[in-house]
Amino acid sequence: MFTIKQPSTIIFGKYSARDYKLPKDSLVITSKGAKSRGWIDYTNLSNAYIFDNVEPNPSIEAVEKIIDDFGLQSFSHVIGIGGGSSLDVAKFVAFKLRKRKIMIPTTFGSGSEVTRISVLKVNGKKQSFHDDGILADIAIVDSFFIEDSSDEVIKNSTIDACAQSTEGYDSKSGNIFTKFLCKKAFDLLEDGILNNKKENIVLGSLYAGLGFGNCSTTLGHALSYVYSNEGYSHGHALAFTTLAAHNFNQSIFYDRFLNIVKKLNFTKISLKQNLDDAAELILTDRKHLDNNPKRVTKDEIVSLLSKVNSLTI
Ligand SMILES: [Zn+2]
Repeated sequence: MFTIKQPSTIIFGKYSARDYKLPKDSLVITSKGAKSRGWIDYTNLSNAYIFDNVEPNPSIEAVEKIIDDFGLQSFSHVIGIGGGSSLDVAKFVAFKLRKRKIMIPTTFGSGSEVTRISVLKVNGKKQSFHDDGILADIAIVDSFFIEDSSDEVIKNSTIDACAQSTEGYDSKSGNIFTKFLCKKAFDLLEDGILNNKKENIVLGSLYAGLGFGNCSTTLGHALSYVYSNEGYSHGHALAFTTLAAHNFNQSIFYDRFLNIVKKLNFTKISLKQNLDDAAELILTDRKHLDNNPKRVTKDEIVSLLSKVNSLTI
């Protein structure tokens, strides 16, 4: 037996965010560039309440500040527009305020528009919150946004989708449906990256979100957060931590993942923190580690971190 959870409505297609009639009595949650990049005009939301100050790797304090500033206003929907950080904050605010949620990704990798997960920093450390109440009501996936994304943004988001689909495929909490989605996702993402087909990256990212969102990511993600805590972007950290995890797990995706990391040309990462302390913290991340196909000990984590620190591709 298995259960699949996803937004009740998923709209996919170029210009779908422009053509969908978004409710005007909304709180829009997005990042600083939203107005200057034309996202508010494109979605016809200039009359809505707008919070456009979500930072990368957002904290639970960002959620609290938005609730303090806008919680007493009258609006029916929270609309998240942006990358995974904006969507994670928007979903969590709406969850706390019990509002309907519409999520519109402008980067394609986190899958946040279709998952029941919000990743937020608590006391400076990334933590993932999982709850059915975090799921969007409507996800609008519009490939228009990828056209004006920088190569750097596309690279960091796409490697996240690659990590999520392959870790999801290997996850112990997966089932035939999530495996089907994750495998198809990775096939599309790989073709999108190697042959510069951006539409395939957008669709692959959606499939990855639906796939891993109904099982979990695993060791690669567990290892990545200590690097993110030191300032590396999520995708940059995963390029190396998921690669090391796939090697450890003997994943069927190891060679193909390596090929993509090479193609995207990531610079080396290394952890300043003491590896023993980092391993202690990683070991507490049971949501990811309990679903890893292989059991992993603290000594193995230290050795994986040390491998990641010396990896150059
Ligand atoms: Zn991720």
